[in-house]
Amino acid sequence: MEGEKADKGIKFKKSENFSEWYTDVIIRSEFVDYSSVSGMMVLRPDSYFLWEQIMNVTDRLLKENGVTNTAFPILIPERLLQKEAKHIEHFKAEVAWVTHGGDSELEERLAIRPTSETIMYESVAKWVRSWRDLPMKLNQWNSVVRWEFKHPTPFLRTREFHWNEGHSIYATEEETIRERDVILGIYEHVLKDYLALPCIVGRKTEQEKFAGGVASYSIEQLMPDGWAIQGPDWHFDGQNFAKVFNIEFLDKDGKKALAWQSTYAISTRVLGALIATHGDDRGLVIPPMMSRIQVVVVPIYKTDNRDKVIKAAMVVASEIGKKSRVHLDDRDDVSPGWKFNEWELKGVPLRIEIGERDINEGKVVAARRDTLEKTDIKIDAVGKESQKLLKNIQKSMYKRAVNLMKSMRSTAYSYASMKSALEVKKGFVLAPWCGSDECENKIKEETGAKITNMPLDQQNKLKGNCIYCGKQAKHMANFAKSY
Ligand SMILES: [Zn+2]
Repeated sequence: MEGEKADKGIKFKKSENFSEWYTDVIIRSEFVDYSSVSGMMVLRPDSYFLWEQIMNVTDRLLKENGVTNTAFPILIPERLLQKEAKHIEHFKAEVAWVTHGGDSELEERLAIRPTSETIMYESVAKWVRSWRDLPMKLNQWNSVVRWEFKHPTPFLRTREFHWNEGHSIYATEEETIRERDVILGIYEHVLKDYLALPCIVGRKTEQEKFAGGVASYSIEQLMPDGWAIQGPDWHFDGQNFAKVFNIEFLDKDGKKALAWQSTYAISTRVLGALIATHGDDRGLVIPPMMSRIQVVVVPIYKTDNRDKVIKAAMVVASEIGKKSRVHLDDRDDVSPGWKFNEWELKGVPLRIEIGERDINEGKVVAARRDTLEKTDIKIDAVGKESQKLLKNIQKSMYKRAVNLMKSMRSTAYSYASMKSALEVKKGFVLAPWCGSDECENKIKEETGAKITNMPLDQQNKLKGNCIYCGKQAKHMANFAKSY
């Protein structure tokens, strides 16, 4: 059976058929699997490890900023979910309901959380009494359900996804807004330094902002097909939920005051961007900082020299294992070539090959997954050298991704040049925009590109008139086709 599997390479080329390649590669590499519930996928150990890495780093940094974790119920009574009008308006089409307990019908339907604002804030309203209780920075790591009707795509569009839900309650508006750069900074760090993904940080438009919030900020990524995908976000909720849920406190003067709030999240969606950005025709390419196995040691032997080679490979593996996550693949039932293919498919960043001749020459062969380059390294220095290579791979994967994104970014000051940029270069087109819903909608209708966000670092470059209506522009906005 294994031999049979070995013949099955990826059927599609990334450059020719991106979406088929994408699903083929994550199923074949045993990264995720489909389940009996349509639109809900299984995170297998290799992909869940990546999610754990994201959770571990993010969680540590959030805690350093005074955030504490909680666990709220998975179910939300209908009356609670309906409390904030815009919120329910946005989510109602995709809420999954629990209507029965055993055979008896419930008196009130219970929603499986699409997000937890409503159930959390009912409790928070009880817990916040005085200014001394603030800020209250709560978080939970969980999964939510949104009943998508479009064609499901693992990580990008699924009916259940995993994320963190950060919910902060502050006494003042200034403090709340100050949180934005802290949280987005944490997410940016995780994306850049762990997932090796470049980020465009910016503000969402009124139409694209979080339902019930005042302003939303997002980190956008770009898929290799030129379509944008939204990554983590931070929302300034003002006092909207505080009003609805009566989150009040006594301020320092003993007067009643309404609380200010924010919410933020990073989800398993970013793993979709990671696969799409780094993968190639041989399979996944996982950045070293994220990979469950960072280095795989593959001994090359025959029956008569097996013991000698395995012994040397064990020494090499234990040396590498002092600093890195290493796996020694000593399976006898498959050939070295078969193993090479399998580990390439799974995207393990570095492969060390060791045979009898190598041992005699005091070296091993190191094969990089990202560039497929092979180099000899001395057995004596295998720990240090593999460490160096892993760092190098991480860095050059990020650089490559940055260049890829650069090649698909352009600026346009006329509608005609914007349309041609969307056609030819694809990706993000930065353009001046007047801020009206009408222009935003018309452009989307006519080109298929929406405003992904208004990059924070581009606002000082504001010049020209609205690309659509010609009135004075208020923002530089990024337009892109979007997942
Ligand atoms: Zn306009």
